Amino acid sequence: MKTPDELSVLFRSHGLRVTPQRQRIFQILAQSSTHPTAELVFAQVRQDMTTISLKTIYDVLNELVELGEIQQLDFGEGARRFDPTTAQHHHLICERCGQVRDIFAAFRDVQIPSSQRYGFSIRNAEVTFRGFCEQCKQAGTSSEAWRPRTKRKEGDTQYGNATGSSSRPKHGQEPMVHPPQPNRGG
Ligand SMILES: [Zn+2]
Ligand SMILES: [Zn+2]
Repeated sequence: MKTPDELSVLFRSHGLRVTPQRQRIFQILAQSSTHPTAELVFAQVRQDMTTISLKTIYDVLNELVELGEIQQLDFGEGARRFDPTTAQHHHLICERCGQVRDIFAAFRDVQIPSSQRYGFSIRNAEVTFRGFCEQCKQAGTSSEAWRPRTKRKEGDTQYGNATGSSSRPKHGQEPMVHPPQPNRGG
């Protein structure tokens, strides 16, 4: 991606609007290495430009994609991500927190068997590695020990064993029967 100043020149040369809000979006993308979604860009711009709309974010992102300055990625998360690095590269994605890292390496062995090429001439291939990042690996193991396992029965200690006369008044014992209800995923 070009620098924010170069992008302003480029936008003007294409008859596209350049406003302080749009320039702020350029800056955020230029500093970003996290492959943000439009919503994440929106949240960041809104910190100092409270009147900006999500539509403006989408407009600028789409214009940048059309100009070939950023690329959009779809990792099947339900939201597109935007990548200011347009040179061929690959990605490493955390399945727990969604963190995406760039990988610049040549995977020469990625080949399609000739029986499954369907007449295509292949231009490039992008490889996505999935797994858990450092933090999520640690969170994953410690959350096992986090389960609350004390289940106290309340009642008995208050009344019973103080004096000998442990005759608790029991009025009519009405059996409050609750039919077992299907309780999924508690
Ligand atoms: Zn993670
Ligand atoms: Zn990338």
